[in-house]
Amino acid sequence: MLESDSCSCCPNTIESPWHVIGECNDDVAVQARSEWGDRMWEVLRKETTVQSGRTALRTDVADAMKRLWARDEHGRIPAWTPGSVGPVGGCLMEDVEMRELLEGVAAAGSWAVWMGVFSRSWMKLLTAGGLSHKRARIVTGKISAIISECRCAVAKVRHERAARESAEAMAERRRILELDVRKYHAMDKRSAGSGKPPLDQLLANGVVAQRKYVRRQRNAEEGRTKEMERKGRVVSLRAASAAGRARAAAICYSDWANLFLAENNSWRTNPRPAGNEEEEAEATGEAQWTGIRRG
Ligand SMILES: [Zn+2]
Repeated sequence: MLESDSCSCCPNTIESPWHVIGECNDDVAVQARSEWGDRMWEVLRKETTVQSGRTALRTDVADAMKRLWARDEHGRIPAWTPGSVGPVGGCLMEDVEMRELLEGVAAAGSWAVWMGVFSRSWMKLLTAGGLSHKRARIVTGKISAIISECRCAVAKVRHERAARESAEAMAERRRILELDVRKYHAMDKRSAGSGKPPLDQLLANGVVAQRKYVRRQRNAEEGRTKEMERKGRVVSLRAASAAGRARAAAICYSDWANLFLAENNSWRTNPRPAGNEEEEAEATGEAQWTGIRRG
């Protein structure tokens, strides 16, 4: 994906500018890089032949310089840091002065060498290698133009891939949108007369109209769901409060029932003792009357 900073072509690789230009193993990028190195070499190779009275570049110097633009077996540019001599480290050029000048060029680092940062070491090397100052300027100018062109060509591989991927991502988003349109259209409870558009028409509409329809239907659907949840809550609350009232009533009833039973039990377990009628009767006129009658 475009949003990601990892290279979609090389697994687990951060897509840094150096990766894009120097290391991405996209076949087209590898090919473009190969042409890039070959074209730079071609400029130097031409300088090794004497043309119209000019002095030529020494072949051993040109051959040694070719090492600066070497790619590894995977078509990648080996990265080396400024200060190190990178690919010219193993150069066994017999001319020590030339070797040191070449190492001076390489010491600018891989980025400078491949991106066309021409230090003074370049002029020293080319003029010491046989070119006039003017010719050396022309040579670095030619190499510089090739670098600009080829660097763009390599970067273009990446940009075209990204554009292709984003086109694929867009097609994927459209497919998902169409699925949503079909889904919400099927769920759309309105009748054709009351605002529900025909599916054919929806699908023929642009992406903007389709998104709008899906958004509106999704909101309506969410609204319905929330309303149902709300009603569900109300029903369960009512059920809970009805149950609460029933429970409260049941408690009242059982209190009353318990009281009744308790009293009833006490009547049953403590029956009035026999013979008590007289004691009780003493308090009444009737008892006095009874006693008088007995007496
Ligand atoms: Zn890559």
